[in-house]
Amino acid sequence: MPKNKGASRKTRWGIPKRVVEGFAKRDLRHLGWIHESGFYKKPRGNLRYGTEFRSRTSLMAKPAKKGERLFLHTHPERAATANCALPSFNDLRGLLTMYKEYGINTWVISRVNEKGEEIGRTFLKLRIKDEKKVNQLIGYMERLERSLKDMDIEEREKRLEIEAHKLFRKWRSDKLLSVKFIPMQGYRFDERIDDFVSVREGSVKSRR
Ligand SMILES: [Zn+2]
Repeated sequence: MPKNKGASRKTRWGIPKRVVEGFAKRDLRHLGWIHESGFYKKPRGNLRYGTEFRSRTSLMAKPAKKGERLFLHTHPERAATANCALPSFNDLRGLLTMYKEYGINTWVISRVNEKGEEIGRTFLKLRIKDEKKVNQLIGYMERLERSLKDMDIEEREKRLEIEAHKLFRKWRSDKLLSVKFIPMQGYRFDERIDDFVSVREGSVKSRR
């Protein structure tokens, strides 16, 4: 990661941080817990709220607008996904389908703690341009999901998260996906639990 980009990133992402935390803190006030929220972004533009439906553990995004290249969504603390700062099965599929439909090639997972503060962001950039390859990957994921359809829902969800973890590692090592973990100030990414943790408190707090 180039070291001299820090300052510009901080400026560019200062407004998104306020936007994301604004939503999270409003959720806390009105609902008592934080829902996931999703946003689109044009290069050098601000975040545009782009959610049709959202809950604590999932969201349905509205369609992207022309020129938008990035989709950011939050993974609040106590989300259902065990993958924490990593993409869920639906995230990986969304990354592929949004690329196909709108040319969105960057997904950002924003980790939000129980106080509504952003603690880190995971940047996922799809490195494939070939639509045939994208379709192949979507096909693989659909077959995988179909093969589990007779499973009990809870079991299936768990299994899909495990599969997502495997796919994430494979795509990353095959260079289909580039990944960057950007902790907020006072946090670091802990590879052992795949999550951002406070520099001071260590990793125990985030373990569930
Ligand atoms: Zn997600």
